[in-house]
Amino acid sequence: MTEKIKDEFPILQQHVYEKPLIYLDNAATTQKPASVLTAVTEYYQTINSNVHRGVHHLSVLATEAYEDTRTTIQQFIGAKHSHEIVFTRGTTEAINLVANGFANTILKKDDEIIVSTMEHHSNIVPWQLAAERCGAKLKVIPIDENGEIDPIAYQNLFSPKTKIVAITHVSNVLGTINPIKDMIKTAHEHQVPILIDGAQGIKSTKVNVQDLDCDFYCFSGHKIYAPMGIGILYGKEKYLEQLPPYQCGGEMIKNVSFEKTTFNTLPFKFEAGTPNVGGAIGLKAAIDFILKIGQDQLLAHDNMLLKYTEEKMQEIEGIRFIGQAKDKAAVISFLLDKNHPADVGTLLDTMGIAVRTGHHCAEPLMNRYQIPGTVRVSLAVYNTKNEIDKLVEALKKIKIMLS
Ligand code: PLP
Repeated sequence: MTEKIKDEFPILQQHVYEKPLIYLDNAATTQKPASVLTAVTEYYQTINSNVHRGVHHLSVLATEAYEDTRTTIQQFIGAKHSHEIVFTRGTTEAINLVANGFANTILKKDDEIIVSTMEHHSNIVPWQLAAERCGAKLKVIPIDENGEIDPIAYQNLFSPKTKIVAITHVSNVLGTINPIKDMIKTAHEHQVPILIDGAQGIKSTKVNVQDLDCDFYCFSGHKIYAPMGIGILYGKEKYLEQLPPYQCGGEMIKNVSFEKTTFNTLPFKFEAGTPNVGGAIGLKAAIDFILKIGQDQLLAHDNMLLKYTEEKMQEIEGIRFIGQAKDKAAVISFLLDKNHPADVGTLLDTMGIAVRTGHHCAEPLMNRYQIPGTVRVSLAVYNTKNEIDKLVEALKKIKIMLS
């Protein structure tokens, strides 16, 4: 990718502490190109209206645009039906929707839920609460020092009591791209459905839910250049039909009386209340942005820059990488000597370089490595080799400053 792409991102044109901003916190959220910002502004300036309920001109246009996004997502992730695409606030809400549904209908006392050591809290806590409510329990897939899942250990966790597997596609800390296709196959061999947390996977891989054969796939728009507050739950029709509504209110009902309420069809059963129409329209613009560049080109860029960053960082004595899986996304977690990650991150910030430090909402993973946290560099389309050179220079300076 060239500097030209960066020009499309207004936020990246600014200086921080009088230094040109270098934004390397893309696993937390990506920046938004002008085309996305314009799409959202235009929506509010021209067709803002509530969807599905109005007969007037603006409402019809807003509904068309909103539903057009649903079809765009269906095609983008290769879903069979557009009604298998549910709009949510993001990955977290999508996982909560499924975990609650399982707690209300499927999970019973002593049932088991399989998760992995590398999960984000969003794919641990909803299952933990669901398990507590039903008297079920979590079983945890171990990982090795490189940050890879042991397939045999995974196999061995299944029992007749296993009711669901919930696993991340890509670790937000280690960058590990899990072999989810194989893991899905294993789950299905045990007749167990599987949910994929795709918060990072949607940016770092090409997702086709039918090819993967996953039962649920969840992601957030803001990790792929779209606005915050909009995300997707993909679910196979048969599972979405089976799960009860998550929230109740307008839109998700068919008929309401004080005696009995019947629910709307998919996907509206899960979309209570006024949705984030502007966010959905921004998400469509973000997907158009991705497809205009080409997913293969984006992935090749990320991969090239990942290799470059890892190589350059090895020049720095005292760097310890956390997560060295063979199949890895453009996320690099590290420690610099014995320095606390927060000190390294704060000093980088004074040099105009934005990275994330801490436990990255993955405390069990930090416990696995017996570390308080890491410094995390995560890359996106607008990052360049020149920025990585500056990062490495800055880390060399920080090493001296903190020694
Ligand atoms: N899962 C993973 C792997 C993540 O990286 C994140 C966010 O960083 C989430 C879940 C939660 O995403 P959100 O906060 O957008 O709901």
